[in-house]
Amino acid sequence: GLSMYEKVMATIEHERVRFVNLEFTDIVGMAKCVTIPVEQFVNSVRYGKWFDGSSLEAFARVAESDMYLFPDLSTFAVLPDKVRPVPTIEATPDEELSASDVVARVICEVRTPEGERFDGDSRATLMQALQLAQEMGFFYRVSPELEFFLLRFEGKTPTPLPHDRGSYFDLSTDLATVVRRQMVRALQKMGFTIEASHHEVAEGQHELDFEIADALHIADGLMTAKYVLKAIASQYNLYATFLPKPFFGINGSGLHTHQQLISKETGKNAFVDMQAEYGLSQIGRYFIAGQLAHAPAMCAILAPLVNSYKRLVRGYEAPVLINWGRINRQALIRVPHLSKDPETSMRIELRCADPSCNPYLAFAVMLRAGLDGIQRKLDLPGPMEENLFLQDEGGRLRPRARLLPATLGEALDALRSDSLIRETLGDSIYEGFIDAKSIEWTEYREQVHGWEIDRYLPIF
Ligand code: GLU
Ligand code: MG
Ligand code: MG
Repeated sequence: GLSMYEKVMATIEHERVRFVNLEFTDIVGMAKCVTIPVEQFVNSVRYGKWFDGSSLEAFARVAESDMYLFPDLSTFAVLPDKVRPVPTIEATPDEELSASDVVARVICEVRTPEGERFDGDSRATLMQALQLAQEMGFFYRVSPELEFFLLRFEGKTPTPLPHDRGSYFDLSTDLATVVRRQMVRALQKMGFTIEASHHEVAEGQHELDFEIADALHIADGLMTAKYVLKAIASQYNLYATFLPKPFFGINGSGLHTHQQLISKETGKNAFVDMQAEYGLSQIGRYFIAGQLAHAPAMCAILAPLVNSYKRLVRGYEAPVLINWGRINRQALIRVPHLSKDPETSMRIELRCADPSCNPYLAFAVMLRAGLDGIQRKLDLPGPMEENLFLQDEGGRLRPRARLLPATLGEALDALRSDSLIRETLGDSIYEGFIDAKSIEWTEYREQVHGWEIDRYLPIF
């Protein structure tokens, strides 16, 4: 058959591709791209495409800013019509100057001038963690539940107004279902398998679930989904937001992640043992114990915004304690009841991540934390199904397990003292991430917020 390269070249010709976006992701999880005219593509595959990495946040020191993008041809996809920007100028009769050129994208590896993997490339960090898993005999597969809000625009500014504020059967809700269907179709066209999409608990809130697959493919899918969703929403004058907690008092948006380890040797789900309690194997128990042990430091990566910690509070189906359970919607890790098909339905669901994270780094630290539990044979306490807080005589609530970090500041402190997570990220990303996030945290901490003025100014 055709090689990957030949297939890509055939698509370029057949679809009349004019431009190619060379995509990559910065440390804090922002999608970036360099656009090249299609005539440059062959050269970029051969020699890489040069770019200056120094002005990207926390990406590279000035001294080493020369970077090269090398396309990973397996990620090549033509951008669906709906994802391309709508032409704002009159379409010209001159086909050569058409505003609706066909654009493709390809996700790239970032390399140094010497051709080595750049140590600030978070996608490479995930590839390294996956490599380590394979050396231990496992493939790592994940299925994320991507939650987001569709909000209204006022002119060009997104407003904090949910799109479907009205009642459930309003016409406006119908529009959201059209938007969601188009989002799913666009992602399918670009090579991703979506299992389901649905309206979530809050007004204007939606969810899109990826079918379980290799973690690298899914991380690529999440990076893609974020701009695809924004682009499609904006065509309906809606703003798709992945902010973890846009509204006080209302459910936030999570990125619950279902995980499986597949044995390289048998091809079977390594978390299944039908003789064991809950059908959960010893490998599965170690994996959960590892993630519980590293949960505080992982939070800095999985829930990386100041705003993330407004979501991780009691009462909104988001976790607050470092525990696991089976039916408890408040547990940090959930092992759902098995269906008739344990191979597929056995998953370990981690619930603290939110959609503002860098998915490459997120899956890398989740995997390494779980593998650490396996390597160190960490003990797993029993699941916690009942109320997670005990009330003492004074009516005060006492948590029945360790608490997750309550702020980005606490999560960063935990990150600073977790050597496994540091090793997983590599020094360059670790330092860049901590620097960028510490500035963010300090900036927030020094602000005087509206709440303080409302609450204190009348009194003091
Ligand atoms: N929106 C909830 C969260 O913040 C999750 C709701 C659900 O269980 O799907 O994590
Ligand atoms: Mg959900
Ligand atoms: Mg869930």
